[in-house]
Amino acid sequence: VKAEIVTIGRELLDGGRVDTNTSHLGVRLAALGAEVTRATTVPDDPAAIEEVLLRALGDADVVITTGGLGPTSDDRTKHVVARVLGRSLVLDDDTLERIAAHFEELGRPMPEINVSQAMIPEGARAIENTVGTAPGLLMEQDGTLFFVLPGVPAEMKRMVESYVVPFLEGRGLKRLTEERILRTTGVPESSIAEEIEELTRRLARTEIAYTASATGVDVRVICRGDTPAEARRTADNAAERIGEKLGDAVYATGEESIEQVVGYLLEMGKKTVAVAESCTGGRLGWRLTRIPGSSEYFVGGVIAYSDDLKKRLLGVRVKTLRDHGAVSEEAALEMAEGVRGKAQSDYGVAITGIAGPGGGDDEKPVGLIFVAVSWDRGERVERFRFSGGRDTVRERAAQAALDMLRRALL
Ligand code: ATP
Ligand code: MG
Repeated sequence: VKAEIVTIGRELLDGGRVDTNTSHLGVRLAALGAEVTRATTVPDDPAAIEEVLLRALGDADVVITTGGLGPTSDDRTKHVVARVLGRSLVLDDDTLERIAAHFEELGRPMPEINVSQAMIPEGARAIENTVGTAPGLLMEQDGTLFFVLPGVPAEMKRMVESYVVPFLEGRGLKRLTEERILRTTGVPESSIAEEIEELTRRLARTEIAYTASATGVDVRVICRGDTPAEARRTADNAAERIGEKLGDAVYATGEESIEQVVGYLLEMGKKTVAVAESCTGGRLGWRLTRIPGSSEYFVGGVIAYSDDLKKRLLGVRVKTLRDHGAVSEEAALEMAEGVRGKAQSDYGVAITGIAGPGGGDDEKPVGLIFVAVSWDRGERVERFRFSGGRDTVRERAAQAALDMLRRALL
């Protein structure tokens, strides 16, 4: 089955908004075994919409559009669809009733403009919108299924789950693709690819895709089967084998974040942590406390920017600062140890470094970061050299600290 996605909206083209509908639809369609052969974005311009719809009608078995369904004048999709399919617009009583009821509930009179939302192409099925007012539409013409969905991501998603996917399943499309995500950090994409290349070549019906960001690489394992159960089995097996190969570089399978994993490990071990941050300015504490329930294990933190505060609050020694400087292994270790002692936590984590863009020199360049972890039976310190702008360096430093804490906890 060939599927085509058309997203409509000028804001998607001029940078006003990122098109998230395409990726959402792509995932759902691929999972049904449909091949997405093309995704196009066009402005709210009738001629542009018409052109892409005509082409899709000829090429695809399933066409899904999003956007331009609202009652305002820049929302043209419905009219163009009707014209392209040679249908006139007729009043859909059920939809009109639903829209009227919606306004009644709000205690407001229904604006005349909303009546136009109840006009649908002849022969179309209105797809109920439980979140907003504009209904979606389904039409079938010359063997092509045409879904017309609202642009608002929440409304679109709801219709996809409650109507589009069940409808396509009813037409015999099955979930023949399964995806597993292995999340890694601290290892470059090329090294990961090298590590698992041979193994994945030997795994049948398995494809690998990498999503790299400043904080790590997600390995997506995509598997096919002749039946949904076979696809699931293939994916479980492939993810397990690849996961074994990557070892503890994998911090999570699925969508879990590293701070969630760290939180889980701390909670399981009944341990607590405190942080001392210099160049990250609180980013590490912020990330740890994003997790609901983190008060169980996160004691607190110190943002110690000046040397003076590093001495007074964290007990970093004058000699250490004089001989090695605040950006050094020695200072990082003393900060981690210091905050652990002051907070009386089980673990202390410290970050010190040069986030840039200024402040670097040959010996201590921009992007140089030291992370230390201290606990009752050990300590670790690592030196990193991160590329990127100030924010990226800071985010990477916080990520590296979370990963070192995770490894210490394992
Ligand atoms: P409404 O009934 O709210 O008018 P609509 O179908 O007319 O719905 P649009 O007006 O095109 O939808 O878009 C509504 C909102 O959804 C806008 O904020 C728009 O930026 C956003 N949106 C539209 N298309 C997408 C997309 N492909 N990805 C992400 N956001 C989108
Ligand atoms: Mg729009």
